[in-house]
Amino acid sequence: MSNGALENAARTIRDARCCFAFTGAGISVESGIPPFRGPQGLWSKYDPAKFEMNYFRRHPKESWELLVEIFYSRQVACRPNRAHRALAELEAAGRLVAVVTQNIDGLHQQAGNTTVLEYHGSTSRMQCMNCRRKFPTQGVRLDALPPKCPDCGGVLKPDIVFFSEGIPDDVHRDATTLARQADALIVVGTTGEVQPAGRIPWIAHHNGATVIEINTRESAYTYRATDIYLEGKAGRMLPMLAEAVLKTG
Ligand code: NAD
Repeated sequence: MSNGALENAARTIRDARCCFAFTGAGISVESGIPPFRGPQGLWSKYDPAKFEMNYFRRHPKESWELLVEIFYSRQVACRPNRAHRALAELEAAGRLVAVVTQNIDGLHQQAGNTTVLEYHGSTSRMQCMNCRRKFPTQGVRLDALPPKCPDCGGVLKPDIVFFSEGIPDDVHRDATTLARQADALIVVGTTGEVQPAGRIPWIAHHNGATVIEINTRESAYTYRATDIYLEGKAGRMLPMLAEAVLKTG
């Protein structure tokens, strides 16, 4: 990456009226949570069909066993990394209005970001499939699967968006509005292949925002929606970018 590209990206963020970040699984890789795609990706080990809503309805125990193995057992030990913290610094300095994340791991909030739109929900909450009550995950025992609602005995589902499930209306509306209003966007660690989430950067691009992208490899956006491509690990590139924004900001 040239210094010119980094400076250009930093200037774009400094000059922006409204800048937000759009993040994917890649930002949490350095925290120890693998992405879905790519050589180390979860899809090389697990069948994506098992993350379908219909599969969960029919086989909640099997689905839960996978979810615990992939997310819940890891997340106890996972902490925000330098990339998450750099986004929190940009927000604290008034340079970032929000993070729209496809991730379900809660690491942006742990790092200190206060406006986080969780496009695919969060493992930090559960919802009863029967009475629809929501619960914080903390306090729900995962030793007998599937966990059951303490009120009605219904099966609890993680409050995440499974394949073939709709995106919560309010989150979709707020993320789309933000994408229309923004004049700068930082896209981090996402293939852009999961829809409709993947459309958010395109909406920003079509509405005139400058798109800065950080990724270890080219994505659906690179050279198409992306204006400034910073190739490298998020844990290295985002702190460098935040430092360049804040040193003269
Ligand atoms: P993905 O798995 O499709 O792709 C990961 C992307 O991250 C790739 O573009 C890859 O090149 C990039 N990447 C990998 N390591 C990186 C690093 N260190 N720095 C920067 N970039 C890096 O992820 P996706 O596009 O977010 O879509 C997958 C879906 O799966 C999303 O809906 C997401 O919610 C979900 N998911 C979430 C988590 C999590 O919450 N941490 C983990 C796996 C999958």
